[in-house]
Amino acid sequence: MPARRRDGGAVSGRKVDYLRLSVTDRCNFRCSYCMPAEGVDFRPHEEIMTYEDIVFFVRIAARVGISKIRLTGGEPLVRKGLPSLVSQLSALEGVDDISLTTNGVLLPKFAADLKAAGLRRVNISIDSLDPDRFRLLTRGGSLNLALAGVEAAFRHRLEPVKINVVMLPEVVDEVEAFAGLTRERPMHVRFIEWMPVGGCGPQGAGDSITKDQLTAAFAHVGELVPVASPGGSGPARYFRLPGHAGTIGFISSMSDHFCGDCNRLRLTADGRLKSCLFSDDEVDVMAAVRARDELGTLAAIHASLGGKTFDKNRALRPNVRGMSQIGG
Ligand code: SAM
Repeated sequence: MPARRRDGGAVSGRKVDYLRLSVTDRCNFRCSYCMPAEGVDFRPHEEIMTYEDIVFFVRIAARVGISKIRLTGGEPLVRKGLPSLVSQLSALEGVDDISLTTNGVLLPKFAADLKAAGLRRVNISIDSLDPDRFRLLTRGGSLNLALAGVEAAFRHRLEPVKINVVMLPEVVDEVEAFAGLTRERPMHVRFIEWMPVGGCGPQGAGDSITKDQLTAAFAHVGELVPVASPGGSGPARYFRLPGHAGTIGFISSMSDHFCGDCNRLRLTADGRLKSCLFSDDEVDVMAAVRARDELGTLAAIHASLGGKTFDKNRALRPNVRGMSQIGG
């Protein structure tokens, strides 16, 4: 039986206050674990939510308790005028935290405007600190440009700055290098278990690794001492290496069961609400939003919240959309 909605954004006693909002399905990378080499079928522009659509939606979602928005994609910074969206969202009553997940390469260009518009902080995805491996993994991306994005984030105080690293097997060889990022500066490196979403990327046993395997690889780097989260309300568990300024986090979406703590909804760029990353279930909110129908939009949000399973094992193996079409 689906979890029962009690009031507003609270489902089965948990407050759903976090929306991952994908602003585009387009990306300037083609990460091998996320997208097929030939790319995916991008939605036509007219099927993508306009900024006016998004602002209308978030205004209604804020009424049921959504207060934290993370902009994602595709690559959110390839969409024109993102600072203007951030500034409109940050002016909405009830919205108190806007963050961004990005591959970082366009951050040097936009960080100042994003900060001025009200963006608080960024997560930057960097899966390897080896330039050749980075290029291979992203199918053409430049590690130097991504690292320039990290510098821009610090320069414009989009903090805490978190680095997302998917746990592909080669990461084991790089734990020392990633740990080095946390030594001098408050950088927070989070290792994320690869999730089988969208039917691309690693397929077999041994193609991706678990939190326990990666933790074991840290044994020769130093003791991981548990610490509080540096900010944000996600599922990561954080540790600090003695004497380091930053932290190491693990998001063990596959080997641990933290669905019960899930506080999030996802909105795809083409206006579908997803209450669980591990399910193909979606609620279409686009028609109500385009009609500026407040009650219809609220009904769609409630329908999505009401279908939230809090148990990924009960959800279907998701295949209809890939990560780049959901936003991670
Ligand atoms: N382009 C942006 C970026 O690079 O961060 C935002 C979109 S990307 C889909 C969001 C996050 O999802 C990235 O950190 C990426 O590494 C992660 N991701 C993509 N596919 C994944 C998978 N199958 N399992 C776990 N994480 C994945």
